[in-house]
Amino acid sequence: MGEAALARMPKEKVVALAGNPNSGKTSIFNDLTGSRQHVGNWPGVTVEKKEGKAIYQEQILKIIDLPGTYSLGAYSEDELIARNFILFDHPDAVINVVDATNLERNLYLTLQLLEMGAKVVVALNMMDEAKKQGLDIKVDKLSSLLGVPIVPTVATRQEGIKELLAEAAKMVLKNPPSPLALNYGREIEGEINKLEALIGQDPFLTQRYPARWLAVKLLEGDERLQQELMENKKGSILAQLEKSRKALATVLGEEVEAVIAERRYGFINGIVKESVKRQKSLEERLTLSDRIDKIVTNRYLGLPVFLLLMWTVFQFTFKLGDPLVGVIEGAFESLNGVASNRLEAIGAPRLLISFLTDGIIGGLGSVLVFIPPIFLLFLAISILEDSGYMARAAYIMDRFMHALGLHGKSFLPLLIGFGCNVPGIMATRTLENRRDRLITILINPLMSCTARLPVYVLFAGAFFPAYQGWVIFSLYLLGVGLAILMGKLFKSVLFKGEVAPFVMELPPYRVPTLRGLFIHMWERGSCFVRKAGTIILGVVVLVWALSNLPPGVEYASPESFIGRIGSFLAPALAPAGFGTREAAAALIFGILAKEVVVGTLGVLYGVGEEGLSEVITQHFTPLSAYAFMVMTLIYVPCVATIAAIRRETNSWGWTAFAVGYSLVLGWVMAVLVFQMGRLIGTFLI
Ligand code: GDP
Ligand code: MG
Repeated sequence: MGEAALARMPKEKVVALAGNPNSGKTSIFNDLTGSRQHVGNWPGVTVEKKEGKAIYQEQILKIIDLPGTYSLGAYSEDELIARNFILFDHPDAVINVVDATNLERNLYLTLQLLEMGAKVVVALNMMDEAKKQGLDIKVDKLSSLLGVPIVPTVATRQEGIKELLAEAAKMVLKNPPSPLALNYGREIEGEINKLEALIGQDPFLTQRYPARWLAVKLLEGDERLQQELMENKKGSILAQLEKSRKALATVLGEEVEAVIAERRYGFINGIVKESVKRQKSLEERLTLSDRIDKIVTNRYLGLPVFLLLMWTVFQFTFKLGDPLVGVIEGAFESLNGVASNRLEAIGAPRLLISFLTDGIIGGLGSVLVFIPPIFLLFLAISILEDSGYMARAAYIMDRFMHALGLHGKSFLPLLIGFGCNVPGIMATRTLENRRDRLITILINPLMSCTARLPVYVLFAGAFFPAYQGWVIFSLYLLGVGLAILMGKLFKSVLFKGEVAPFVMELPPYRVPTLRGLFIHMWERGSCFVRKAGTIILGVVVLVWALSNLPPGVEYASPESFIGRIGSFLAPALAPAGFGTREAAAALIFGILAKEVVVGTLGVLYGVGEEGLSEVITQHFTPLSAYAFMVMTLIYVPCVATIAAIRRETNSWGWTAFAVGYSLVLGWVMAVLVFQMGRLIGTFLI
């Protein structure tokens, strides 16, 4: 194509999708884009960015799925992403997906979009539900009151999607409207005007923001924007802001932001009253959802129901997953056998055979065995989420999690961690708040996953046969106790002063659709396979190399690098009572997967896993055995977990921190156990 032709090509038009979580955004996105979509991350953060293409007549529209938010403040990464995209990327249209069954809450976002001067088309979704609930929405009336085109849709049945696309394509060609100016009442308006006048004289600001919108946001106390003004030395505006907020606080006798929010809701209430008719008999209000909630969120029954469901999720995930894990393991073992036989037959070098079998196939196998439990778990979580139960679970657990300084939603990721830390860490995606999410990720490895169990079983069985159950239980408790301590510590030291308000919304229950469940499960699960896979494989190859170098040594023998590292590290473990080359090497291999600790000890002591409980009684004392179990519980998460932390925090810094703090904590705890134990022993004897 020539340059002239290129220049004549119309610029690609961008349509953003905005809406509350659970309003049906993903469903509409999928309806609009079909299979022409791909997923990445927003620059600099881990929030998923979905893009796709929709075609209307000859026109190609790039559809961008913004994170689901209730508001466009600066409280969460999601809100900031959505708001900055609209402010700075100037999409050619914004499709605002609105849940018709919950207009009051959803229109709050719509209002904010209009205040920003966005080119909004409303998709009034869940019309089927609205009808079922006896809501009669006069779409034309609502449209004229809001001043935007509105298209009723049922995303799950692809109803109204064509019309929606047509409206969006029309909107793309229009000029931006002037931002909606809500009347906030005499006093607030006075201060808005003062600020707006000052802002209006500043080309830097007016280029970036609609002046009135900025004034309102500043009065609302938006910290991001204040900080930006500070960084750009807008002293006079900040001084006026201070004055205005003080003046308003006195006149209104209430927080300014509360009054502003009240006004918005007042406006919305008015609109809804005008355009929606609803039957309000007692029976109507006691809808099925309410009746279910009577039991599910009941003060006494809520917790047992919750625990029962969680137990079911666990059973579902691990009971159903385990046989599948076995199948995959078996497949890889036979693949390994076949490959090494074939390679030997053609006379391949020993090192190459070992690289392909122990390294690549073994390494890939150790990653892929995670797939069944991960997908099953995410399927279970998707069911709980799409049905609306997850919101109730967060509500029920909120009280307990507050003791940890965390949010109710942090409970599930921690609980899942007892099965496996990898999906536990991935499940933190349901947390909107960055701080809560990071803390939940950081303490997740302290939840004793099932991979630690073989180590406990071996050592507790050999040294404390009569108290095996209690010893193992004590380790689980130790993990939980440390998680509580660390959670509190991180919160008070690392994330001082960051607080986000939280709305505990309880959406009505729904029967999830298969399509929705599959998409949600796939979205979450496939990330693990793609990203964690590459990192884990890299480390596996590295450990393999360390076990085989320098050239000519026997695999993982004392002369190999791994053996030498073991000998080198052993003295550091001596204060904890297990300063042997074998223990050190086992712990290093344990980073691959904690189960491996047992196997490695077997190899190093030359007995395999069968005679191991005999042999370890000669190399450990009951005290050093307990210290070793404590170390296994706490020190460095396994590679898969490290990869998951890296993927979910999108930061090598936090990943290094997670590894570093757990290593230090593990060592300190093991040493403490051993030394205290010795002290107590000396006094008692
Ligand atoms: P998102 O959170 O905004 O991405 O919303 P989703 O697209 O994931 O939808 C949330 C739930 O609502 C899913 O279970 C969907 O199947 C369901 N859903 C979406 N649109 C409709 C609709 O128009 N009618 C009904 N009854 N359910 C819908
Ligand atoms: Mg979604």
